[in-house]
Parts: sequence; C-alpha cells; structure tokens
Amino acid sequence: MRIGVLASQGAFAEHIAILRQLEVEALPVRLARELAGLDGLIIPGGESTSIGRLMLTYQLTAEVKKLARGGLPILGTCAGMVLLASRISDLDVEPLGVMDITISRNAFGRQRESFETELSIPVLGEKPFPGVFIRAPIIKEANGRAEILARLADGSGVAARQDKLLAAAFHPELTSDLRFHQYFLDIAAGRK
Ligand code: GLN
Repeated sequence: MRIGVLASQGAFAEHIAILRQLEVEALPVRLARELAGLDGLIIPGGESTSIGRLMLTYQLTAEVKKLARGGLPILGTCAGMVLLASRISDLDVEPLGVMDITISRNAFGRQRESFETELSIPVLGEKPFPGVFIRAPIIKEANGRAEILARLADGSGVAARQDKLLAAAFHPELTSDLRFHQYFLDIAAGRK
C-alpha cells in the first residue's frame, strides 16, 4: 500500500514515521503529480490557512478534491480536518469541502489551547485513545453520510468519518498508539 502525506506545511514527518512503523510505503506529497497512484492520503495538522494557500499555489486543491470525490481514502488531522470540511467558521482560504461537517476553528480558549485527554473511540475498541489537542478545531455538526466517531465530555465532536474520508481534531501522530492510523489503513484497504 502506498500512502501519501501532504508535506506542504505542518506535522507531516510524524505521520510518515507512524506509517513506516505500520510497514506501509509513505511518500511526502508536495506536487500534484505526486498524487498519482496513491492508495490513500493524509493531510496533517499545522495551520489550515497556510496549508490551504500552499495547496492552491501548487494546484493540489482541485486535484485532491477530484480524487476525494472519486473515492480516494483521506485522513485529515487537526488543520487537515478543517480543510476537509464543507463549513468552517473563520477560514479565509478555500477548503476542499468534501466532508459534510461543520467546523469551529480554535475552539478552545487560551487556558486550554493545548491539552491531552483520554478519548472513547468505539471503532478502535474499548481501550481509551490518547487525544492530543493543539489549538484544535471541533466538529459542531455532521450531516448526510458523515458520522461522528468520538466526542469530548461536553459533546463536541472530535472525530468523524464519511465513507473513506476520516477526520480527527486531535493528533494521533503524536502518540505511540497506532490504532487510529491502523483504522485508516483498514478503511483504505476496504477492511472497515
Ligand atoms: N488552529 C489550527 C488551524 O485551524 C489547527 C492547529 C493544528 O493543526 N494543530 O489551522
């Protein structure tokens, strides 16, 4: 399996390291032609405005949109999740708009800009997942075929799936728990 990791800006090296631990071929993607022949794509965390602008400059936006609509499995984490969404408060760049979710950016106040909490994610099994949140967005609403997979105690959505598209408000690449990436690979392989 060949998984591309969008390497315009942000935490792409960590995703590549996790994919290599899971023994899949992981390729950094900076140019549109590097999207050819992939079995999946990861859009990392970072700054969604910068990643979105770089994607436009390098003509990745239209191509990734087309591939997503054609069924390419994509995992977006944090800023990557923001870019997958259709509705976002306060983003001045065009998102991909392929997931039917509504996002609120930087949804936590200054005191809780970054925090770690155990998440219950039923699709990963009973053991809680270490959720690392860094200036994180939340999912306010999922519509259509999009489904929320995990919530914080206050009800905010923090992970969602729509067919082969997967999104997380937290950073699974910053933990040693490989289950979230494994779940994405299972989706990509058609096992889940
Ligand atoms: N606050 C960032 C944004 O909306 C996301 C932060 C992150 O990816 N860690 O772009």
